[in-house]
Amino acid sequence: MYKKRGLLIVLSGPSGVGKGTVRKELFSQPNTNYEYSVSMTTRSPREGEVDGVDYFFKSREEFEALIEQDKLLEYAEYVGNYYGTPLDYVEATLEAGRDVFLEIEVVGAAQVRKIVPEGLFIFLAPPSLSALEARLIGRGTENSEVIKSRVDKAREELEMMNLYDYVVENDEVQNACDRINAIVTAEHCRRERV
Ligand code: 5GP
Repeated sequence: MYKKRGLLIVLSGPSGVGKGTVRKELFSQPNTNYEYSVSMTTRSPREGEVDGVDYFFKSREEFEALIEQDKLLEYAEYVGNYYGTPLDYVEATLEAGRDVFLEIEVVGAAQVRKIVPEGLFIFLAPPSLSALEARLIGRGTENSEVIKSRVDKAREELEMMNLYDYVVENDEVQNACDRINAIVTAEHCRRERV
């Protein structure tokens, strides 16, 4: 029987919205039937992070060699470090008919949109911009200028949600996971009509 290519699922959204938490929760569930693509990064491992599980940790030189050799599907620089998606792994997994899940920031997601327009793009959004602002003010750790620039940046990132197929509000982690799983199931039903 003809084997279909897997679906490339991209979860992105503004910084601080909780993408990593949602992704970890999705993959901790026993019924997850898509593969997580472990990213490459030049940032140092945090406590408890394991090479090859959380990230493939690379030096800047190693990462730049990967860029040079076209080994990355996309990459971006985020807060002074490179992050990128390994092309060979993604390609081989999709070709084998398995879905691949990327959890990446918005610049990288925009690159993937251009290269793989048939992918499934999901934007994780905070409940509201005013909630984000209130949280920053409430924390009391930044002055009003910094708060303004952070809110401006978040507003800019939120405008990018129009480039996505779906917007999922991260009101609660489990709700967000349920919505993402429902979207993936629905997309398979939609795409696999013969
Ligand atoms: P962290 O350093 O907190 O693990 O990740 C920082 C940011 O990088 C997060 O927004 C995360 O989603 C994003 N990120 C992780 N892997 C990749 C990747 O392969 N490509 C891109 N463009 N962003 C990534």
